Amino acid sequence: MSVYLHEEDLPAGVLGDGPVAIDTETMGLITPRDRLCLVQISDGGGDEHLVRFAPGSNYAAPNLRGILADPARLKLFHFGRFDIAALHHYLGVLTAPVYCTKIASRLVRTYTDRHGLKELVRDLIGQEISKQQQSSDWGGLVLSEAQKDYAASDVRYLHRLRTELDIRLAREGRTALAQACFDFLPHRALLDLAGWPEVDIFAHA
Ligand code: MN
Repeated sequence: MSVYLHEEDLPAGVLGDGPVAIDTETMGLITPRDRLCLVQISDGGGDEHLVRFAPGSNYAAPNLRGILADPARLKLFHFGRFDIAALHHYLGVLTAPVYCTKIASRLVRTYTDRHGLKELVRDLIGQEISKQQQSSDWGGLVLSEAQKDYAASDVRYLHRLRTELDIRLAREGRTALAQACFDFLPHRALLDLAGWPEVDIFAHA
């Protein structure tokens, strides 16, 4: 159960087979303005890998790109819409296939409007995670231990959340609807980047 920090790419061969959990940290919420600083990735086996990008990085990262685009490997996110857009903008690769725990939560936890990662982990797994470092400076030369811990915790529970959410999706008869949403999610991220960020293109008015 360790957290590993890497520079500019994920080393080859550090991940086991199967789905991987992914999260990103950026300088802010406006993707073209706020550079991608960190990509966190976990195979669910207990270790988390943090890949840091320096200011002015060329974001070559061939190993990381290979995983993001691998059609045989599912990528788990919480609010993947943001991360997929950032990964596409900076790494030039469209991440697929994907699973989003926030979308699954909206489809089954209809008894609440609280779908943040912290609430989801508490409700489905019974663990407490801290979001204290969420709005910290991810662009500095040195990441603090608290930042590394926080970044790793954002991918630590996604495999277990998927298991719990899949049970509930099946129970409520919404598995196929969730899959259709996951299939569309990379395209929703592309719409964000192409200039339709807050417009619902399915809306009547
Ligand atoms: Mn995060």
